[in-house]
Amino acid sequence: MPVKKLDRLRFGPAGIPNSYTGPTEGAIAFVKELGLDAMELEFVRNIWLKPEKAEVFKELSRKHDVVLTAHAPYYINLNSKDPEKVEASIQRIIKSADTLYKAGGFSVVFHPAFYHDNKPEEVTEKMRKMFRRIENELKERGIDVWVRPELMGRRSQWGDLKELLDATAGFDLIEPAIDFAHLHARYVGRYNSAEEWREVLSMYEDVLGSDALKRMHIHISGINYGKNGEKNHVNLRESDLKFEDLLKVLKEFNVRGVVISESPNLEEDALLMKETYQKIRAEKGTRKA
Ligand SMILES: [Zn+2]
Repeated sequence: MPVKKLDRLRFGPAGIPNSYTGPTEGAIAFVKELGLDAMELEFVRNIWLKPEKAEVFKELSRKHDVVLTAHAPYYINLNSKDPEKVEASIQRIIKSADTLYKAGGFSVVFHPAFYHDNKPEEVTEKMRKMFRRIENELKERGIDVWVRPELMGRRSQWGDLKELLDATAGFDLIEPAIDFAHLHARYVGRYNSAEEWREVLSMYEDVLGSDALKRMHIHISGINYGKNGEKNHVNLRESDLKFEDLLKVLKEFNVRGVVISESPNLEEDALLMKETYQKIRAEKGTRKA
């Protein structure tokens, strides 16, 4: 099994920080200098990290104590009508996981599927079979990282909270990635209160166990939405997402793992969240003392 628990809740950007220029591996030290402690490698258009370079990333992430995650290519649909596209999707997920594993990373996230004209429960059943195949291949090849279908923001996309939990219960390498902005957008403005987020984390814990809360892979950003869910990501301060309350609930449940900022301003919102979270922790600390 990959890393069972992370030491704390870590924060980082979805990709190389906007304010960084230079060779990609230098971004790890840069993230550390900014005061952040995680970074997601965006393989969304292609898996650009070569195996030799991955070794370098591994060393640097250890040296600077920056936990690496990855985002698999967007061109994935495990419910495609075309069997070749399904196979290609599986291989993109596995190659992303293999690359991240070589880079000493923690968890890779992917967009699982569209419903097309299938019933949601049929797709969920199909996803369980797909995840089993993926997990078996990961195990055969000794690729030991978390692989996570993401909570999706559009209503045409498979992957709401309950579907993800149903489809991933009982796996050793597969757990959901929770995108709180997508959750908020998918339900057109709901999931924006402490009470609702407590429900989410309680369900997550009930199905996957309390250790699962110690190794979460989370996405947070500002978001615009309409009746079909997600429209586009925006910066936190430009959206209605009550991220401070969300961070309080993450603290309340002592969630550990990685929070990735997918706002357009990447590292700025990652820092905003980290600083807000530290303030919350300090306040709680004072109360206890
Ligand atoms: Zn995503």
